[in-house]
Order: sequence, then C-alpha cells, then structure tokens
Amino acid sequence: MKAEIIAVGTELLLGQIANTNAQFLSQKLAEVGVGMYYHTVVGDNAERLYSVIEQALERSDLLLFSGGLGPTKDDLTKETVARVVARPLVEDTGAMARIEKYFERRGIPMTENNRKQALVVEGSHVLPNDHGMAPGMAIEYNNKLIIMLPGPPRELYPMFTEYGLPHILSCMNENVVVHSKVLRFFGIGESALEEELMDLIDSQTNPTIAPLAADAEVTIRLTARAADVAEAARMIKKVEEQIEKRVGAYIYGYGSDSLASVLVQAVAERGETVAFAESVTGGLISQMVTSVPGSSVALRGSIICYTNQVKNDLLGVPNEVLASEGAVSAEVARIMADEVRLRLGSTYGVSITGEAGPVAGENKPVGLVYIGVSGADGTRVMEVKLSGTRAGIQTRAAKHALFATLE
Ligand code: ATP
Ligand code: MG
Repeated sequence: MKAEIIAVGTELLLGQIANTNAQFLSQKLAEVGVGMYYHTVVGDNAERLYSVIEQALERSDLLLFSGGLGPTKDDLTKETVARVVARPLVEDTGAMARIEKYFERRGIPMTENNRKQALVVEGSHVLPNDHGMAPGMAIEYNNKLIIMLPGPPRELYPMFTEYGLPHILSCMNENVVVHSKVLRFFGIGESALEEELMDLIDSQTNPTIAPLAADAEVTIRLTARAADVAEAARMIKKVEEQIEKRVGAYIYGYGSDSLASVLVQAVAERGETVAFAESVTGGLISQMVTSVPGSSVALRGSIICYTNQVKNDLLGVPNEVLASEGAVSAEVARIMADEVRLRLGSTYGVSITGEAGPVAGENKPVGLVYIGVSGADGTRVMEVKLSGTRAGIQTRAAKHALFATLE
C-alpha cells in the first residue's frame, strides 16, 4: 500500500508553522508497516488542491489529508475532495448534534458557517472529533482510501489514533491485529545501536524494528502484524531475544518505563532505599525520582550541595580535597556518595558532580561528570564525558546517575 500525506494550508507554505502533522502520521504509519511515498503541501487554493488530489489518486493508494476542515472560507478540503470524487456534501446528524451541543454548553448562538462543519462527503465513514467540532472522514473510492483529518494537532492526533488508524488497518486486512512493544535503552547511541542490529533491521519486515532517539535515550519499537495478539507477541518475543543477545546490557525497561520508575521499583522491591547528593544536576535526579508515584518508599532524601562550602558543611568533604582535587573529581564524588548514604541512612548513596558549562571553571572541561554509587559492599565512581547545552548535559548526567544506580 502506497501512502501519501496531503497537508493543506498556506501557513505551511509560508513557513509560519512546521508540518508536524505529517511527521506524526508518517511515524504512526511506519510503525504498522505502511509505506509512505509522498508528503505534499498545498495552500488554501481550490484549483491547486484539486490537481494535487488528482495526481495523488494516480500514484497512491492511501491519501491522508491534514487541515482545511474548519468553518471558514479558506477551509476547502472536503469541498474539493467531494468535487474530485463527484459526490455531494450531506449533513451528518451525529456531527450536527455535537456542534449544537457545543454551542449550547457555551451559551452562545451558533453561526451559520458552523453548520458547514457538519457536512460530510456522501457515503463516507465519519471519524468523530472528540476534541473539536469538524468531523474527520474516511472514503473508499476506486479501490483507494481517502482519509480527511482536521489541522489542529490536538484534534488530529487522537482522531487518527482512535478512529483513523484502526479504519486503515481494517481496510488493509480484516483479520490482522497490530501489536507492538517498545524496548528502552540507555548508555548506547542510536547509531551504535543501529550498527549492532543493522542486519536484523534490514531483514526484518514482520515484526519491524524501528529505533528512535529522544531525550538522551534510544528506544526500539517492535511491531508485528498477525492473526491475533498472542501470535504477534510470540513473533515479537523471538526478535526481542535476538536483540537481547547482542545489546541486552543497555536495555533498562519497556513501554512507558523511565530510568527513574525502574529504579524506584527495583529499590522498593528489595526493601532498600537510596539518597542522592547532587551538585551539577541541582536536584534534577531527585525531581525525576519523586515524579514517580510511590517513590517515597525508595527515596530517603537528597542533599543539593552546589557550593564547596555546602559540600564541606553538610557532607564533610574535606576542604583540602576540594582544594587539591577540585569539586569535579572522582575523589569528591566518592566522599559525597559515602557520606550521603551514611548521613541519610539509606542503602545506597549516589552522588554527582560535574561541569555543565557553558563556561568551564576549575580547569575542568565542560561536560566532565563524576558519579559515585556507595553501597554496603563498596563504592564505585564513574567518569562520563558529555556534550551539548547546559540543560542537555544536566539531563544526560542525571540519567547516567540513575542508570549507574541500577547496575
Ligand atoms: P480549524 O477548524 O481549526 O480551522 P482546520 O481543519 O480547518 O481546523 P486548518 O485551518 O488548516 O485546519 O489549521 C488549523 C490550525 O491547525 C493551524 O493554524 C495550525 O495551528 C494547525 N495545523 C494545520 N496544519 C498543520 C500541520 N500540517 N502540522 C501542524 N499543525 C497544523
Ligand atoms: Mg481552518
């Protein structure tokens, strides 16, 4: 199946907004193995839109429209599609009822152009709009599938996920379910991961293997199509085992897990606790941990020891060590980890000290970070070298500390 996205809107052509709807739709379709062949952008102009639709119907099987479903004069998508497929626009009673209710709730009179929003191309399958007024549509025409979605992302995303995609899948093959699983990696970059799995990624079509890098982490989504969920899950498991064999050491979680949630769970399960001594991250690690519901079982507390004075006052880091080694040093990280464990009475003490930039102090390079993990059987200190903006370095440093604690 060849898919094409037609994003309608002059504001896209003028560069006033980015075509993020096309990005979203492409990602969603890639996940289920639908081939995306073209992204087209066209302004709010009936003639040019008409010719774009004619061309798309010649070369693509699935046409996905974004935008131009609203009540104003420049919203032309459904009118133009109706002209191309030679069907009239008719009022959809369900959509009309929703629109009337919307105005009733707000206590404002409905203007005539809002009636236009309840018009749909005759014979279309209506996609309800749970976050706005204009309904979406799915039309089968000459063995092609045409889907129209509203422009605002907060309307388009849920409409596509809840109604559009299932409709596409059911048109593709009635007896297929799509099931996916996300593996979450840390400590390996996207390109290194792809390198390790290149042959698998290239040869696998079902399940598909889709790596994605975001927020200093990499995920791999495995998506299988099969007769039922159990069969799809079995197919995914087989590929997952192959991936685990090669890069299992970097997998920390699945699905919606985060480094912090996995850490909280692991620590709480063993009836243990953790405490942090944060310098360079200024509380970010503790924030990530406390954002996990139920984290109070695992986190004793933290000390934000930003200055040397506080490192000395609250954690007893000797001034001589701070002077000779510098605050950004393995030795200071080791003492901070040991002391925060001792002073807060936790099973593990985890420390972090580093240089987030943009200007380096202490003759240490920007991005140099030391992480200490202190436990009953000793203290480990690791050195990491990071790059990027101040915020980027801090986020990655915090995640490194969480990952180090997990090990
Ligand atoms: P409305 O009822 O709000 O007019 P519509 O379906 O007519 O919805 P448009 O008028 O084309 O949609 O766009 C409405 C808004 O949606 C735009 O101002 C923009 O903020 C957003 N939008 C439209 N197209 C895109 C796109 N391709 N990517 C991201 N955002 C978009
Ligand atoms: Mg509009």
